[in-house]
Amino acid sequence: MARDAAGVPAARQPGPRDRREGAAMALPALVAPGAALTAAERRRYARQLTLAEVGEVGQRRLKNARVLCVGAGGLGSPVLLYLAAAGVGTIGVVDPDTVDESNLHRQVLHGQGDIGRAKTASAAAALAAVNPLVRVEPHPTTLDVGNARDLFAGYDLVVDGTDNFATRYLVNDAAVLLGKPYVWGSVLRFDGQASVFWAAHGPCYRCLYPEPPAPGDAPSCAEGGVLGVLCAAVGAVQATEAVKLVTGIGEPLVGRLLLHDALRMQQRTVALRRDPDCVLCGPRATQRDLLADYAYFCGVRPAAAGDTISPAALRDLRAAGGDPLVLDVREPWEHELVRLAGSVLLPLDRLLADPARVAELPADRRVVVHCKSGARSARALAALRAAGRTDAVHLDGGILAWIRDVDPTLPGY
Ligand SMILES: [Zn+2]
Repeated sequence: MARDAAGVPAARQPGPRDRREGAAMALPALVAPGAALTAAERRRYARQLTLAEVGEVGQRRLKNARVLCVGAGGLGSPVLLYLAAAGVGTIGVVDPDTVDESNLHRQVLHGQGDIGRAKTASAAAALAAVNPLVRVEPHPTTLDVGNARDLFAGYDLVVDGTDNFATRYLVNDAAVLLGKPYVWGSVLRFDGQASVFWAAHGPCYRCLYPEPPAPGDAPSCAEGGVLGVLCAAVGAVQATEAVKLVTGIGEPLVGRLLLHDALRMQQRTVALRRDPDCVLCGPRATQRDLLADYAYFCGVRPAAAGDTISPAALRDLRAAGGDPLVLDVREPWEHELVRLAGSVLLPLDRLLADPARVAELPADRRVVVHCKSGARSARALAALRAAGRTDAVHLDGGILAWIRDVDPTLPGY
């Protein structure tokens, strides 16, 4: 599907008929008020209680709320910090990863001393330090088809801070099937997007993006980079939306997509309409359960035999004197940071812009192309083969897999 420069699908651009459907609207509070506030809670939340729109009842709704945050990373950090500070009574955190040094420029929930620690444990400690009056439920696991329903069922709403498409579609589908609001945010480079998908009142994520992008077309933050502080802007929008949904104040981003441009420092919202043909939430919906395999749906398929070489096989090939040409299609700064000895740099965009450069590669050496984790090298491989280098293969898992399996002394990133 065609998308404009901001990544908005052209077919979903609002038209005159969408004006009413995409207009901001108030919704009733999602959560009933909990028990009366204690003296400690009154002191802590005094500035929030002063707001007539929130007041004592709104604060008791927050106290009674159960919010699940998928991912304790760049977006999850501001979301979790502010939800805890605001007094959301129970906060679930799903994340299978440990804190890595390269996370710290944007994942402000974690600090230097947390490197190597489970993100859920680090998050729980950080949130307890911010507000001991809220309860944190750590789920140090990957959200998957087997646990999504059970996890979501225990919470009032879900905030998604992950940066991969398979998880987004899984979160959306589980949220629609269970009738939960889904507060979505996304960051890449200098651009952010946010919306609230809630099939009971507006479109779902599949109405906006019926199909995942082709693998390699949409870079992840790991490959495309992200300005760390952008996460604060988009995460703050997500946390605000969660508080508004719980308390029923204002007009949530249901049926609207917020676009945040950090370089121009501009925000705009565009109306989203429900897709009448949506397979999940449309009147003729055909999907009544979760998919069997979201990674497969998003095109992350096992490589065809003959396309890839494992790091160990490449090591053995070189040790045996095979002398393959190792072609690095990452960016120059990545090549500078860490590289395979003897590798030649040809960034993917330059290769794709000028496929004739393939002819400059020595014909008598087998080409092994690699990138960071395997997405860019898969695209490069297709270009190489189209240009006649049918013997070319790409390194399975990229240089990260090489570091993991062959040479752990090299620096990761
Ligand atoms: Zn839908």
